Amino acid sequence: MRRTIFESLTHGPLTETPPVPDDAALAELAAALDRKARRRLGRSLAIRQVDAGSCNGCELEIHAINNAFYDLERFGLRFVASPRHADVLLVTGPVSKNMRQALERTYTATPDPKWVVALGDCALDGGIFRDSYAVTGGVSAVVPVDLHIRGCPPAPAEILKGLIALLDTQTTARR
Ligand code: SF4
Repeated sequence: MRRTIFESLTHGPLTETPPVPDDAALAELAAALDRKARRRLGRSLAIRQVDAGSCNGCELEIHAINNAFYDLERFGLRFVASPRHADVLLVTGPVSKNMRQALERTYTATPDPKWVVALGDCALDGGIFRDSYAVTGGVSAVVPVDLHIRGCPPAPAEILKGLIALLDTQTTARR
């Protein structure tokens, strides 16, 4: 015990150095997303996140968008508490059978026009949970999906690029 206390006092923390984010590139992506949302909607994008059975790895990256480190809410990106206020449903996880009805009800409660973005490899086809008896096998098995953002989990920059691509494709498609 005494040895453990001594070692903890004399050694530094055993955590890894965090990756350095490219702050300028992220800020540019977030600003581009805000500009496109204002052109398309006349205001910033409102996102309702739905955890449909994820391992929470994808949520950690989504939360990172709003943490003090990235602080991308300064560009107008908003996460809303109710689907009734959302433009985008950002869905993670393989859609466990227990979450199927909740996802369907959230989709129904979101006003048109609405977009569904499936985030992470699990949301595409079930990912590492694909063969489980407890999952439906991806978001598109339950509700229509407009865009899929790959990764396990995707980093904040990939999430922003995906949302920009969503606005680009939908703006082109609905002209
Ligand atoms: S894609 Fe990866 S990080 Fe995201 S919920 Fe699935 S296993 Fe977890």
